Amino acid sequence: MKYTANENRYELMKYRRCGRSGLKLPEISLGLWHNFGGVDCYETGRETVLAAFDAGVCHFDLANNYGPPPGSAEITFGRILKENLLPYRDEIIISTKAGYGMWQGPYGEWGSRKYLFASLEASLKRMSIDYTDIFYSHRPDPDTPIEETMGALADIVRQGKALYAGISNYNPQQTAKAISALRGFGVPCLIHQASYSMLNRWIEDGLLDVLEKEGTGCICFSPLAQGLLTGRYLDGAIPEGSRASKGVFLKSSVITPQLLKNLNALNAIAKQGGRTLSSLAISWILRDSRNTSVLIGASSSAQLKENLCALSQPPLSDEELGKIEEILKTN
Ligand code: NDP
Repeated sequence: MKYTANENRYELMKYRRCGRSGLKLPEISLGLWHNFGGVDCYETGRETVLAAFDAGVCHFDLANNYGPPPGSAEITFGRILKENLLPYRDEIIISTKAGYGMWQGPYGEWGSRKYLFASLEASLKRMSIDYTDIFYSHRPDPDTPIEETMGALADIVRQGKALYAGISNYNPQQTAKAISALRGFGVPCLIHQASYSMLNRWIEDGLLDVLEKEGTGCICFSPLAQGLLTGRYLDGAIPEGSRASKGVFLKSSVITPQLLKNLNALNAIAKQGGRTLSSLAISWILRDSRNTSVLIGASSSAQLKENLCALSQPPLSDEELGKIEEILKTN
């Protein structure tokens, strides 16, 4: 399929500086954790990625283990690059990560130098690229000295195999140590990838303060609480094919009567402001300028387009924010 990107794409998106780095990221980025594996429909995935790029979403987030099977989302993305996006490679920020289990034995997961180097090589091969823009330590390793994990990230950056280093799922104390270790190796920590949504506010308890002080950006994953903060479950039913229907990463048991009540109350605020629940959830994250980018997932280009509407709506008013706060207090 011949593809020419939408000429107006950069007018449709806003870009935020990532911490105190030179890199800007789109306010909405697309993650390929679900829906882009070897078991998923390639055409749907391609359509979603290209619709994102046409809307100015120039950052795509991967990890070694995304699939299923693990590794296959990188293969899918590599194919989309080769078939459609390669002419635009210099306009795209690709990230990948290592930390979770990829192969057997003691060097197949966590944070050793041995694992991180081998995993990145394999990721680059799967995507058929020479370098990734951001390489993350996907989770802190309790048994490996932080200097070893951060030293490996720094050397990877120095070798040009990644342009920037990042961390994910580190708590505030681990984050401060990782940033300081990286700095000791002469490499700044560009970004922290952390879970954050109206239903999961842990980063407000210290992490954002550390990141702000250190000049590190924050990209928020699962901003729609894996679909809960969309129209998908508002009537209490579990649609066939939805993430909750698969019951692995999102269990239907989390959808309690109280949660449903809150989601519907949030949806009412969204409606009053002419928004959808998903765009309310995205605008709510963007209210804090320390959040560089909102890292969404989407199982179709229609979902993606609905979520992108957040960008053409006004910021949430103090009144709306106050009402949301009241609802979130009850859980
Ligand atoms: P979201 O919270 O955005 O959930 C995305 C899912 O919600 C979609 O796959 C879809 O699920 C549903 N959805 C999205 N938009 C709509 C809509 N408009 N209407 C109805 N349903 C909708 O994010 P994810 O949990 O997918 O995470 C996003 C990215 O964050 C990942 O791809 C990955 O890159 C990153 N991530 C990083 C982690 C880490 O440890 N660093 C961990 C988890 C994610 P469905 O249609 O299938 O029901």
